[in-house]
Amino acid sequence: MAYSRNLTHILCRSDNGPSASVPVVRFVRYGNYYKVITNSEPNLYTLMFIEPHIKGERRGWIEVICGSMFSGKTEELIRRLKRARIAHLKVEIFKPALDTRYHEQNIVSHDETAIQSTPIENSQTILLLANEVDVIGIDEAQFFDDQLPEVCDQLAFRGIRVIVAGLDMDYTAKPFGQMPNLLAKAEYITKLHAICVKCGNIANYSYRKQKVGGQIVLGEIDIYEPRCRNCYYNPDC
Ligand SMILES: [Zn+2]
Repeated sequence: MAYSRNLTHILCRSDNGPSASVPVVRFVRYGNYYKVITNSEPNLYTLMFIEPHIKGERRGWIEVICGSMFSGKTEELIRRLKRARIAHLKVEIFKPALDTRYHEQNIVSHDETAIQSTPIENSQTILLLANEVDVIGIDEAQFFDDQLPEVCDQLAFRGIRVIVAGLDMDYTAKPFGQMPNLLAKAEYITKLHAICVKCGNIANYSYRKQKVGGQIVLGEIDIYEPRCRNCYYNPDC
């Protein structure tokens, strides 16, 4: 746990603006999470996931990182994968081939942290490519086919740590793709929040600003913005 306790600052995103570095005052442990408490604002804290330590037998499990757009899901996925690499674990990362917003082969977060990944058309491909792997990261899981939860199960049964990141709701606030099934199967769940651009409260909805059709419209802040419950359902107030 020394790695996390050495943390002296956390980055707080303001979604559209630059990140701010906030000093950490103390950590309080809750199971597999540390509550990271800062002194900049009394109510501002974050939960930081800590990897389970299992001595002896190697076991697999599923972690899901979910939330709205601009909530920091990909940053958190990259953070966990980089820590696994520091621990000399073999890591493979996959993303759906349709997600080419930033880069063909990299997973790139909104703050432009990047890690190399393999774009794939079909979730079953992961089973073929996951040889001699300790940790698998899957980004934008909501875009994958309905075999993904079963694929993740099989990987976990092989002893692999599976970390899945994805949007839990689409722009109409309906559960997105296979995310509900993945959340049900996961041992560990982290729900991240953005900040509502209208009122500054915690946001967990992805509001589509442009009236264009279809559940899947790839875009960024030009098309979507994070909103809280009130501002999402009452956009004119
Ligand atoms: Zn709001």
